[in-house]
Amino acid sequence: MPELPEVETIARELKKRIIGLKIIDVWADKDKPFRQSGGLKKFLKEVENKKIVDVRRRAKFVVIDLEGPRSIFIHQKISGHLLYGKWKKEKAGWKSIISGPLKNDLKNKYLRIIFFLNNDYQVALSDLRRFGKMMLVGDEEIENLKELKKLGPEPLEISFGQFKNLFTKKKGRLKPVLMDPYFIAGIGNIYSDEILWDAGYHPLARVEKLKENDLKKIFNSMIKVLNKAIKYQGDSMDDYRLPSGGKGHYQEIQNAYQQTGKKCKKKDGGIIQRLKVASRSAHFCPVHQKI
Ligand SMILES: [Zn+2]
Repeated sequence: MPELPEVETIARELKKRIIGLKIIDVWADKDKPFRQSGGLKKFLKEVENKKIVDVRRRAKFVVIDLEGPRSIFIHQKISGHLLYGKWKKEKAGWKSIISGPLKNDLKNKYLRIIFFLNNDYQVALSDLRRFGKMMLVGDEEIENLKELKKLGPEPLEISFGQFKNLFTKKKGRLKPVLMDPYFIAGIGNIYSDEILWDAGYHPLARVEKLKENDLKKIFNSMIKVLNKAIKYQGDSMDDYRLPSGGKGHYQEIQNAYQQTGKKCKKKDGGIIQRLKVASRSAHFCPVHQKI
């Protein structure tokens, strides 16, 4: 599932390309992703000929601000990612007329929704598992959406003081706590492993036992890892791709996530191990991430 760095990259890359353009049509193979807006027909009527004024990220969601009082709120879910290109319809489905990864990478071939823009380009959602959805939302209603209302703060927008306060009275294991969107938004399986590897904490450490000094290290690693991942344009080990169809590069520098059996890059003699926690896998070095 795309996490903060991946969604941030998608929003930034799309923003460069589509601001000021108008949506002239929308195609979708099913009505389901638009159910909360009363179906595709109704959705189309609202967005048709509207100019795009901004593209931004909120938690793991992409928000496309349209002229007028509404925005498109996009949940890419597990396997969805937004692409920017040109496709034409053939018998077997939509085919990219731009060569390269939009045409060749299998992850970019599951087009479910296409926005046609007035520069002859399109924005498409490739979504293998079909959980992605889109909603039209009033600009003032966005923060009150049930998807956002109870979410924790944005990790790159809080001070250490605010981060520390989150842990007051908080109990549980470190990795699931960091992955809990109601605790802090945008961190999932990949970056929780990477942050804890960097900071040197065991994924099962109890948060109620952490001291200020420990939280400071975790906070610093969180900022460092997330910013680095944005710089590397996210992690394409799984389904996520850039709007150009190409891969992000964070998978090339992963230290813990999916590195089971490899030597710890801190050169401490540790071998990365995997364990199950809250039905997810955690990857860590048993030498420098002791409980
Ligand atoms: Zn190590």
